[in-house]
Formats: sequence, C-alpha cells, structure tokens
Amino acid sequence: QAKLRGKAQWALFDTQMRAQIAGRLQLELDLRRVIERQELVLHYQPIVALATERVVGWEALVRWQHPQRGLISPGEFIPLAEEIGFTLVLGQWVLQTATGQLRHWQQQGLCDDQVYMSVNLSGRQVAHSRLVAWVQTALQESGLLPRCLRLEVTENSISEGVERVVSHLTTLGALGVGLSIDDFGTGYSSLSRLHQFPMDMLKIDRSFICSLGQPGPATNLVQGIVTLAASLEMQVVAEGIETPAQLWELKNMGVTYGQGFLLAKPCPDPWLSVA
Ligand code: C2E
Ligand code: MG
Ligand code: MG
Ligand code: MG
Repeated sequence: QAKLRGKAQWALFDTQMRAQIAGRLQLELDLRRVIERQELVLHYQPIVALATERVVGWEALVRWQHPQRGLISPGEFIPLAEEIGFTLVLGQWVLQTATGQLRHWQQQGLCDDQVYMSVNLSGRQVAHSRLVAWVQTALQESGLLPRCLRLEVTENSISEGVERVVSHLTTLGALGVGLSIDDFGTGYSSLSRLHQFPMDMLKIDRSFICSLGQPGPATNLVQGIVTLAASLEMQVVAEGIETPAQLWELKNMGVTYGQGFLLAKPCPDPWLSVA
C-alpha cells in the first residue's frame, strides 16, 4: 500500500513538475517577444535631496505587463533574461526608453538639465564590449547630455571580469555619465577594489535602512558607509526609506539623498500625480 501511495505521489509530483517546466518554457518564449509585443514598461521613482526634498534624479525600473500573468516585477524576469542571454536586448530598450523619456520631460519643461535619469545595468551588460557604444547611441538618439544619464551597477557585477569592467566604466565616466554602485553592502566588492572604479555615488541597500531604529548595528553600519563614501569622495543615496523616523535618522547622519515609498513610489507617469 505504501508503494501504491508512493506511486500516486510520484505521479502528482511528476504532473506538477511538468506544469512548472512548461510554464517556465512558455515564459521564456514570451520573454523573447516582449519588445515586439510592446509589453515592457518603465516606472520612474524620484531620487530626492533629503534636506530640501528637491528631486535630483529619477530611477527607471522596468516591469513586464504580461497579457495573462499581469504585471511581473524585474526580480522575477531579469534573472530569467540573464539566463537566456536576453538582458542585452532588454537593456538596450530600457536605456533608449529612459533617456528618451527624460529628454521628453526636459522639452516639456518638467525638468531642467541638472536632473538625471538613472538606469540599472545587469552584470552581462556591464561586461559587454559594446556597452560604451550602446550608451553613446542612446545619448545621441535622445539628445540628452551625458551628465543627465546615470548608470547603476551592483557590487557583484563589478567584481567579475574586473579589468574590462573598470575600463568600460572609466570610459563612461570620462564621457560625463554618472556612475552609481547599487545595493551597497549586500555584495562582495572588496574595499581595496572599490577605489579602482570611477563610481561617484553609492546607494545604501534597503536592508540597512529598514533596520534603522531597531536594536542592532544598523545605525553604526550606515554611519560607517557614510564615512567610507566621504573618504572615497562619493555621494550617498539611502534606498527604501519608508518611515519618517528613518528619514529623520538619515538626515541626522548626513545622508544627502534618498529614495523610498515615503518620498514617492515608482510610477509610469510621475507628472500626472503632481499636476
Ligand atoms: P534596485 O535597482 O535596487 O531598485 C530598487 C527597488 O526597490 C525597486 O524594486 C523599487 O521599486 C523598490 N523600492 C523603492 N523604494 C522602496 C521602499 O521604500 N520600500 C520597498 N520595500 N521597496 C522600495 P523593483 O522595481 O521591483 O526592482 C527590483 C530590482 O530589479 C532593482 O533593484 C534592480 O536591481 C532590478 N531592475 C529594475 N529595473 C531594471 C532594469 O531596467 N535593468 C536591470 N538590469 N535591472 C533592473
Ligand atoms: Mg537601482
Ligand atoms: Mg538598489
Ligand atoms: Mg535591489
């Protein structure tokens, strides 16, 4: 009887596995057609000067509007895109759309040219030999000044293939493009390496910010990161500010910029809610 039950369970497991694999395959097929089907959308979240609450930049965050599955977050499909080698195509779309959007806002008089657009790059993009060419194309096509574009790379994506990545980022930095380290504190970039990169901004990962005000080392860690950034002459952004208490503490610690639901949530047309 145990054997029978085992068999039935296996059959059930097998069916579930098949459904899962089929679902993933379908998602992969759908993902490859996402651009032609115009299913990608960008949401924009402001980056704010904490002292004045002035918007200094916007971060472009991609979403997939799937006809059956609804809005899929990048955390779900970017890893899949990386696996199937699709992030290059996807990344070009994001770069082109985000730069075009900021240029459009500038032309409508909604932003001046002190405000930047910040675009996330995947590990594969940062290491790709055509990265600089893609960025230059996006700048030329949109007519955006290089200083109005900022690129965000995670610690982990700059710790692989270091030489090549340093050279790409150095070229981009020399063009005038801003360079941020995203999710700082969660990766494995060594401090000795950090100063080899031409990054001018460091984004403190949300996990540190959400632990502020709780017992534990969060405050000291954030303070340490602020000091580190100052000695590397980097500007600091706190990610994921959700409460007034966190905001207050960050201001007190001398964090200049912030981003988070308390200040504004990412949305497809941020100017609609303002008007
Ligand atoms: P990230 O670059 O660190 O972006 C910040 C994430 O935190 C975003 O999630 C944003 O919606 C969320 N967030 C902002 N404020 C708050 C807050 O106060 N509380 C909480 N709980 N969350 C907040 P999202 O949009 O789901 O993006 C997740 C990650 O996906 C991004 O993390 C980034 O690594 C990646 N990603 C997004 N867009 C792109 C893209 O165009 N290309 C690539 N390669 N990766 C992208
Ligand atoms: Mg980011
Ligand atoms: Mg981040
Ligand atoms: Mg993140």
